[in-house]
Amino acid sequence: MQIRNFSIIAHIDHGKSTLSDRLLMRAGAITEREFQNQILDDMDLERERGITIKASAVTVFHDHTYPDGRTERFMLNFIDTPGHVDFHYEVQKALQACEGAILVVDSTQGVQAQTVANAYAAVEVGLEIVPVINKIDLPSADPVRVAEEIEQVLGFPAEDAILVSAKTGQGIDELITALCDKLPPPTGKPELPTRALIFDSIYDDYRGVITYVRVIDGELRKGMKIRFMGTNKLYQITDLGKLMPRPKQVEVIGTGEVGFIVAAIKDLHDVRVGDTITDAGNPAPAALPGYKPSQQMVYCDFYPSGKTQYDELRDAMDRLSLNDSSFSFEPESNDALGFGFRCGFLGLLHMEIIQERLEREFNIEMIQTAPTVTYEIKKTDGTVFRIDSPSQLPDPNHVEEIREPFIEMNLILPGDCVGNLMKLCEDRRGIYKKTEYIGATRVMLQYELPLAEVIYDFYDRLKSATKGYGTMDFDLIGFRSGNLVKLDILVNGDKVDALSVIVHRDHAEKRGRGLLVRLKEEIDRHLFEIPLQAAIGGKIIARETIKSVGKNVTAKCYGGDVTRKRKLLEKQKEGKKRMKRVGSVDIPQQAFMAILESG
Ligand code: GDP
Ligand code: MG
Repeated sequence: MQIRNFSIIAHIDHGKSTLSDRLLMRAGAITEREFQNQILDDMDLERERGITIKASAVTVFHDHTYPDGRTERFMLNFIDTPGHVDFHYEVQKALQACEGAILVVDSTQGVQAQTVANAYAAVEVGLEIVPVINKIDLPSADPVRVAEEIEQVLGFPAEDAILVSAKTGQGIDELITALCDKLPPPTGKPELPTRALIFDSIYDDYRGVITYVRVIDGELRKGMKIRFMGTNKLYQITDLGKLMPRPKQVEVIGTGEVGFIVAAIKDLHDVRVGDTITDAGNPAPAALPGYKPSQQMVYCDFYPSGKTQYDELRDAMDRLSLNDSSFSFEPESNDALGFGFRCGFLGLLHMEIIQERLEREFNIEMIQTAPTVTYEIKKTDGTVFRIDSPSQLPDPNHVEEIREPFIEMNLILPGDCVGNLMKLCEDRRGIYKKTEYIGATRVMLQYELPLAEVIYDFYDRLKSATKGYGTMDFDLIGFRSGNLVKLDILVNGDKVDALSVIVHRDHAEKRGRGLLVRLKEEIDRHLFEIPLQAAIGGKIIARETIKSVGKNVTAKCYGGDVTRKRKLLEKQKEGKKRMKRVGSVDIPQQAFMAILESG
């Protein structure tokens, strides 16, 4: 039997998950009805948001007929990946477990920013790429133009692209044939000591940790004693299986195959994604290279609130981090908010998803502070270190430089929107790099931007500046010195650390004023007057006052026709109002996120 391992990569919404389901259906692994229900996006959140968050590997079989009439059975293991820029880490993990990739491009949209980013990532890992042009059932499909774009931008010959409709099934047989013919087989050696790469894991209440692996050399067998090479833990395999897409038990996972193992692992910390499993009786001399640690870009605090205790929050985060190793958390305490955690995420969407998963899957109630990026600090004594919270900034008299993370951003948009887009990038302190044309009507722009300027609402602004057609992708390129200052917020005379932000000096006053206006809207009136102040290094630069109740009740409370841009905040508003008492003032959750809307 032949084995082929591949990932399905694309810009978001170009049809990866639908194509995955179609491949399952074509192989008889799911029914038409299951196809309609989008079997692979099974996490509630994925369904609701219509995006794939986790990469999952499934196995199907196909009887392939060679041009000479011979037939042979193929085991196809494939991974549907998330397209969103925040989930590059998930995509990277998937790519390293494969020899090939299907690059899906929507025939009505053409090459987009994440098409380019994902294609480069696959080329970098050395994968064979099969370009696929999807949605050819749509009247507005323009596969010829899109094939030309693929050739022009990515360098894959236009005639190699396979035209399909994941929705109707058109072209799928041709695609499967191409996969069997073109993708290289795995190169591992069955006779070598076992080495299996852990690319994912989940915690199951009854069976303990379930570990998803790609076997590189040797094999994994039921009953085998295994060693996790990184954590140096020993276990015995009690069960192993494959997702087809439902879990199915097998006796062996052979060289080049993927599957999952169960070994009564109760301690979550014994299993690390990227670690190598070997045969304890015949260990491999060296572990696989594993994964580069993920780069957290955005930080915020989570504090337990309502009925949730600190320990519950910690346990929930422990479990979730097993399933998503790309977020980090460390204990943090704060005068205003008590004991909680400082958490790091790959991006804002990632942060929202972790927060929602904690609330839904673990029934956690919490308060979240506004996200910030990491800063690099150079002190006057020459020492350099990083901080991920404004409150960690040392006394300004001892700070020589504050450096902020910069990204290189690629944007693809219609040519007639370039002016709008350039204005947006300039407002966000962007540095123009270059323009390239894609076909006759679209351009690819490159900018360098401070990450702090894009983590909030850049994506929404990009969409409105380009009538919805613009797409973007970015990479961190390093830290650069900037004219940055810490903006402190005082509520009723008390400095609230969790509300401090680091901002560019030129924007400080505007930001400060905006923040106070938002806080005034969010904090309810109390029996006394509450002064709100914004300060830089002790100097007050803006002030507002929340009047006491009793004086003029009608004026506030219902006021404020504020446009709620972020869905997340809307949802929180509907829910129970979560409060934290700071001094004698009750501050609701939304107030801690006010910075997001004060730009
Ligand atoms: P993903 O983000 O790349 O996983 O994209 P999805 O598979 O979730 O698809 C995005 C949207 O495009 C969904 O509404 C699908 O129903 C739709 N879609 C996917 N493939 C096709 C296709 O071949 N034809 C049509 N008409 N719609 C499709
Ligand atoms: Mg998807």
